Amino acid sequence: MRCPYCETDNSRVIESRASEDGTTIRRRRECTNPSCGRRFTTYERIEQRPLMVVKKDNKREEFSYEKLYRGLMKACEKRPISAEQVEQVVERIDRRLRLEFEREVPSSVIGERVMEELRALDGVAYVRFASVYRQFRDVETLAQEVLSLLQETAGRTKPGN
Ligand SMILES: [Zn+2]
Repeated sequence: MRCPYCETDNSRVIESRASEDGTTIRRRRECTNPSCGRRFTTYERIEQRPLMVVKKDNKREEFSYEKLYRGLMKACEKRPISAEQVEQVVERIDRRLRLEFEREVPSSVIGERVMEELRALDGVAYVRFASVYRQFRDVETLAQEVLSLLQETAGRTKPGN
């Protein structure tokens, strides 16, 4: 596999790990060029028929695991969330969508799924994503979201948990 930094054609695998459900293998690789030696990650997945995302304007684009992963990483920036947790979320969303939708899925469904997952994972990441996705029209709506989130968090940290 070619190194994305120096474009040397050789790299060695230093770690391979299968995803929870066994459908993806993630490999950490190291460039064999001694003056580079940088590490990068590759994913190996079963080839699936394309799932098309239908956007609001009715245009279609192929569902992209990588694009979803990058979007989530952005929402989780500077939060105590590991890349591995983000991967698990993306894997779960990907798997569920492919089970439920044969060929096409509305982009709004993906947005809702992401919000559900982020809500359970991290309040800040959730509000960040939701504020862009839902385009909260006013401060009041945003405040309500934050408030209900805080109440839930308080409920979860009750003694005895
Ligand atoms: Zn390199």
